[in-house]
Amino acid sequence: MSASDDCLFCKIIAGQIPSSKVYEDETTYAFKDINPKAKVHVLIVPKKHYANVAELAAEDPAELAHIVSVAQNIADESFHGAYRLVFNTGLDAGQTVFHVHAHVLTGEKLDE
Ligand code: 5GP
Ligand code: ZN
Repeated sequence: MSASDDCLFCKIIAGQIPSSKVYEDETTYAFKDINPKAKVHVLIVPKKHYANVAELAAEDPAELAHIVSVAQNIADESFHGAYRLVFNTGLDAGQTVFHVHAHVLTGEKLDE
């Protein structure tokens, strides 16, 4: 069984589950979080399945850097380039979907 058979975000990337697309290119997909924690709350994912940010950093650091630049562009368009970038990593840190995703929180002044 491949990762996409039981991974929620692989299914979203494949279009099998609907999502609200914010950005897409050959390697990367960005969509609105279903339960937003800020005025703009976008999830950015590599199209290829990696369980977490450590795995992505080890196996495809260029894609990790690309995700940061996509986050920057979203924040440039929605809140003069200011944003919070979060990778929850591991169950005890609140990771619930084990396909690496960057949470981009922006669009308004954030609590410290
Ligand atoms: P985590 O807790 O793993 O860091 O973040 C998972 C995120 O995915 C949560 O913020 C949650 O709201 C979001 N999420 C869960 N299921 C769906 C879904 O079906 N569609 C979208 N757009 N977001 C989802
Ligand atoms: Zn996946």
